[in-house]
Amino acid sequence: MTDFDAQRRRMVAEQIRGRGVRDELVLSAMEKVRREAFVAEQFGFLAYEDSPLPIGEGQTISQPYMVAFMIEALALKGGERVLEIGAGSGYAAALLAEIAGEVYAIERIGQLAERAASIIASQGYGNVHVLHADGTRGWDAHAPFDAILVSAGAPDIPATLKGQLAAGGRLVVPVGGHRRAQELIRLTRRTDTQFEREVLADVRFVPLIGEEGWDAPTAGMVLK
Ligand code: SAH
Repeated sequence: MTDFDAQRRRMVAEQIRGRGVRDELVLSAMEKVRREAFVAEQFGFLAYEDSPLPIGEGQTISQPYMVAFMIEALALKGGERVLEIGAGSGYAAALLAEIAGEVYAIERIGQLAERAASIIASQGYGNVHVLHADGTRGWDAHAPFDAILVSAGAPDIPATLKGQLAAGGRLVVPVGGHRRAQELIRLTRRTDTQFEREVLADVRFVPLIGEEGWDAPTAGMVLK
């Protein structure tokens, strides 16, 4: 067992199981995915810390617990078609790929999308598809999705994503009127027109930027 394997086991025991995540599919995915491969090389020694880490371009790989909590909220049973908005490092997409059938991950920053695609390939996941685009418009060609995970904070739930949920499907998304503070919402599609909305937690994500998200920062804009 490598040092990283030992650190990963400990991370799952203390940060994930220890904080109440009970879904065995999520726990076993967390035991498998090598987070050290997804963080920037100089932060490898921090790979199993209880925190987000920079991945370049002003973006972060989420805290392990937050990723586990969100994926548990998607209530996957295995084999589903899942969409992730905000692929970032590709770590959450790899976790989803351990559980779901096919994972479609969208990232708006080209360099991150390329990096995520290459790390995901190097880790052997053949069921993850990475698109460089504005994810607030979803991925119509592969809709409907059984589950949609939004890994950045939206001002409102993007209507296009609601429309790409399958009947019974779950959308987990941080929503808030501030660019950096949100409530984590789970939306379950009951019928064509009926959605059930639950508030799961208070969270802090980088902003979801796009047509159905926040405006891209421009020179002179006060961000905090
Ligand atoms: N899931 C990631 C964490 C990503 S942080 C991981 O496991 O590493 C949020 C990411 O969302 C950032 O990379 C940011 O560039 C991206 N993002 C923001 N708005 C987006 C949009 N409209 N479409 C796709 N990606 C977006």
